[in-house]
Amino acid sequence: MKKVYIETMGCQMNKSDAERMFGMLEHLGYYQTEEAKDADMLIINTCSVRQLSEDKAFSAIGVWGKWKKEKPDLKIIFAGCVAQQVGKRIFARAPYVDLVLGTQRLYELPNLVKRIEAGERIVSTNEEQFEEYDIQINRVKSVNAWVPIMEGCNNFCSYCIVPYTRGRERSRNPELILTEIKKALSEGFKEITLLGQNVDSYGKGLVKTENGFKTTIDNVWATDDEGKTINLSWLLRKINALEGKFRIRFVTSYPTDITDELIDTVIELDKVCEYFHIPMQHSDDYTLKKMNRKYDYATYKRIADHVRSRVKDVTITSDFIAGFPGETEEQFQTMLDRMEELELDYSNTAAYSPRERTVAAKWTDLYVDEDVKTERLARLNEKNRDCCLKSNQKYLGRELEVLIENFEDRGEKGTVITGRTRNNKIVHIPHDKDLTGEFVMVKITNARTWYLNGELI
Ligand code: SF4
Repeated sequence: MKKVYIETMGCQMNKSDAERMFGMLEHLGYYQTEEAKDADMLIINTCSVRQLSEDKAFSAIGVWGKWKKEKPDLKIIFAGCVAQQVGKRIFARAPYVDLVLGTQRLYELPNLVKRIEAGERIVSTNEEQFEEYDIQINRVKSVNAWVPIMEGCNNFCSYCIVPYTRGRERSRNPELILTEIKKALSEGFKEITLLGQNVDSYGKGLVKTENGFKTTIDNVWATDDEGKTINLSWLLRKINALEGKFRIRFVTSYPTDITDELIDTVIELDKVCEYFHIPMQHSDDYTLKKMNRKYDYATYKRIADHVRSRVKDVTITSDFIAGFPGETEEQFQTMLDRMEELELDYSNTAAYSPRERTVAAKWTDLYVDEDVKTERLARLNEKNRDCCLKSNQKYLGRELEVLIENFEDRGEKGTVITGRTRNNKIVHIPHDKDLTGEFVMVKITNARTWYLNGELI
């Protein structure tokens, strides 16, 4: 048995890819180690959303390159979004790398590993996706299993690198998704989170064949044997029909792609949680246009209000960027004011980071000064904190179902179990037994900025 170490950066999609890589490598006789220095194979699974993470990736493998001088058989794989974007130029910066593995070629890993073990150096970043097959997935032990259902994006927001690193939108074969979910449930996972850059596009591009389904990037939709369109609602229904008590979530939704059919499905299906992550990115109309987002503030608000009016107790979370090129103080202030007006429950926040190949990165003369960006991000975070606290205070005194995810001994403060409500609120509960994986009823006794406190009832 040989040892493999994977360092994963970035989003949940990358973490899910790492679980798949571990599964495929196990079949080749590799087992996972937490100690990079002990490994026979090192994989950096990179993120390119921000320049900082790209820089961190190169600095991490710089150390690995030195180890390789002492251990010439050591194999180094550069994978993930930076690999897809930078391709063979990685060899110039890091000549000790054996394999550059793009995001579209994940399922080719076993063949490629055999070839690098035989001494080849390979770049595999062809944008044509390598055909997916049923693999063993070595999931991180947890209550929640992340299951990618689609990948890529066709929206080309002017700041975003994803369409260049993850390619055009492609939906995964529903049969493989359902097989994967059944396996996760049989392994004891209690929550399934469907993952995709635009989950609402799920189904687009699927073509029925004699052997099942083929994934394409075309704007076509397949139907099932009863003539029903295979889309996100269809998939949610299939998963909801699986046996056992578990929860279903999905992220991320593009605002204008949320349909009434999807809202009806969320309302109707008992296992689907009342939670929508709907990134807004900005709320000033001029900036939204420059970002190439396909809605204005009024449209977003109408969608959020509509979801709220239909889905009881729904939580809506979002993403915002501070310091987009050309953003004025007035436009930034508009964003803060409107965040409050929207009563969002939580938002991910970031300062704008220019990414090579994107449209906005070329507007260098409009770049916002770094200090101003930092100051705006701090104010954005402050506003986010206010919104979160207000949102949490609504739950004081309520009785809610919580799925326990964690048990922690806090020394003198005693032991605490932590879990999430259906609408994704974190709840801490003093308790002396580990109830991880159990559904419990909790009365909320206190609301803090990032979490709730409660007691078992
Ligand atoms: S919709 Fe999301 S993933 Fe697609 S380009 Fe815009 S920000 Fe990137």
